[in-house]
Amino acid sequence: MSLCLDTPLTELAGVGQVRAKKLEKLGLVQAGDLLAYYPRDYEDRRQVFSVRQAPLDRRACIRAMAAERPRLERVRKGLELVRVKAADYTGVLHLTFFNQSYAARAIHPGEEYIFFGAVEEQGRRRSMVNPIFERADRQSVTGCIMPVYPLTAGISNHLMASLARQVLPCAGALDETLPQSVRQEYHLAGLEFSVRNIHFPQDGQALELARRRLAFEELFYLAAGLSFLKKRREGSGPGRAVPARPVEEFLALLPFAPTAAQRRVMEQVAADLASGQPMNRLVQGDVGSGKTAVAAFAAWLCARGGAQTALMAPTEVLAGQHFRSLSALLSPAGVRVGLLTGSLPAAEKKKTRAALARGELDLVVGTHALISQGVEFRDLALMVADEQHRFGVAQRAALAAKGHRPHVLVMSATPIPRTLALIIYGDLDVSVIDQLPPGRTPVETYVIGEDKRQRMYGFIRRQAQAGRQAYIICPAVEEAQADQPSPTPELKAVTAYAGHLQSQVFPDLRLGVLHGKMKPREKQTAMDAFARGEIQVLVATTVVEVGVDVPNASLIVIENADRFGLSQLHQLRGRVGRGEHRSYCVLVTSTRSPESLGRLRTLASTTDGFQISEEDLKARGPGDFFGNRQHGLPQMKLADLAGDMRLLSQAQQAALRLLEQDPRLERPENRPVLERVRRLFADTPDIFN
Ligand code: ADP
Ligand code: MG
Repeated sequence: MSLCLDTPLTELAGVGQVRAKKLEKLGLVQAGDLLAYYPRDYEDRRQVFSVRQAPLDRRACIRAMAAERPRLERVRKGLELVRVKAADYTGVLHLTFFNQSYAARAIHPGEEYIFFGAVEEQGRRRSMVNPIFERADRQSVTGCIMPVYPLTAGISNHLMASLARQVLPCAGALDETLPQSVRQEYHLAGLEFSVRNIHFPQDGQALELARRRLAFEELFYLAAGLSFLKKRREGSGPGRAVPARPVEEFLALLPFAPTAAQRRVMEQVAADLASGQPMNRLVQGDVGSGKTAVAAFAAWLCARGGAQTALMAPTEVLAGQHFRSLSALLSPAGVRVGLLTGSLPAAEKKKTRAALARGELDLVVGTHALISQGVEFRDLALMVADEQHRFGVAQRAALAAKGHRPHVLVMSATPIPRTLALIIYGDLDVSVIDQLPPGRTPVETYVIGEDKRQRMYGFIRRQAQAGRQAYIICPAVEEAQADQPSPTPELKAVTAYAGHLQSQVFPDLRLGVLHGKMKPREKQTAMDAFARGEIQVLVATTVVEVGVDVPNASLIVIENADRFGLSQLHQLRGRVGRGEHRSYCVLVTSTRSPESLGRLRTLASTTDGFQISEEDLKARGPGDFFGNRQHGLPQMKLADLAGDMRLLSQAQQAALRLLEQDPRLERPENRPVLERVRRLFADTPDIFN
């Protein structure tokens, strides 16, 4: 049979209908798909040991001769054992196979085999259970660097490797996917070589060359796609020009003087809005740096220009808060502000929708529902996304495709490490508010164990008595045995724990509860009561994580702190230290793990959000960092978005140069690049319309 790239996998040895279905789940249908299905790791099986010298700390290959006829035993129904001894000049290896009766037929006395597995030792006796084996003169899965593939139920790595080996000869039929000039300039290996060696590397160096070339390619197409999008947007007609106004008019509304950083960013935003091109700007600023004022300024400009603004927040709690503070700030200037969230009564929603359509509101604050639920605007000029990491490439494209071509302002406190920001927001202009309002002292942070719990309670009481407020954050809503709240439960659960605190610890204080499972209205009531100071201690889950602003709160206690990511803890800590009061963050943990404690101490020793997120990224990787594909970018298979900084900037440089020469990718030799970009962003709706 001669294989080509589009040969269905069912034609390969070992693939029937059942397995074909399972492979399809992994996106594998044709031979060519397998070539592009890269190993996630490798196992070095090159070194072959004698029985006595084989290492005990990892799986290893042993070359030995079968010393007897294998014995097959039926221990009971459903359990068959094959036992056989193998030997070399250094000793005897006892082999046992569970439910692999074929081993009894495949192993012949007097033949030499390579056995691959974990060696166990009891006294001088060495043994292996269920090793992989093959005849020493017909090695295919031993004596080499073996690929380790991502798998699914019913598909073994052994099968995957065998399939990959079967289709490997097709690699020669692949069309080279990087322009020759790029390959030469960056010393990149050819495609066929790279594909062969990513699956079955000749040696470590070949693997490195293959990996570098294929990762470069991924980054190259990602960068090309993103700058292509940006160029298209810039070239695809004017946006709405919002005339600039003297900034002093706006500043007169603010209860404080802006920082220099806020002022600078306001100027950048005003210039974007007036330019006639749709703005696409990310405002990055650490928690408490005052991003809301920038958004308010942009909305004010649009309202003055007779156009509308929509501000989108990730939670109803935050939307409500923004609605109140923006109304207070802007209504004296005649800006009409509305709120639109899912939990409002239907009649109210209807009224707000109608007002938006008629142009009787200048600014609407809401949740994601704002763009998804067919809300119509009379004249939407600006979309602000606050703390929405999900508001990525795809959403912006969807918005633009609605035909509004509104200006877009994305605000984020998650200090995205520079490497990631470059990719995720590669098509955005970035402003940074790198300064906190004056008079803020850094939040004092302490890591404590259970032994200091009573002292911590005493501290909460003293803060409350001094007129301050406190948050206590717990990781989960319900406890396994919620009827048995103990004072130091493994996992502090909000409702049970709050009940315990109110009755046993703080009968004299006013406590409140806030968690995600409450009805939106109840949440709002609790949040309002806390904002007014009626609740002194708010026991909450991470629903308060982003954006919540109660300047009188001066203490945040985080229970089971080791369960949170560092960036998340940093966000939570940002709930305090927002006013003039000296503020504290107490991280409670009973962990003894030196790594966990080390991470928590990092947080105690720095308030630099960037440093913290770099640490977080190192510990958890970019996937976790943003949750499941939250950044809305295509998945990378090989490229490490956090680590390959040098490769990334090279790939980006190469992509930019290509687009400079051929901005719309119209030249025949660049058609494959355009096709690839199209496929890469296929999940992103309407990008190419
Ligand atoms: P974030 O960047 O985290 O969204 P906010 O916009 O919520 O920050 O601002 C945090 C707090 O600081 C708010 O109470 C806000 O009123 C206040 N604030 C913002 N800018 C200034 C400033 N320049 N001077 C004093 N207080 C400010
Ligand atoms: Mg904010």
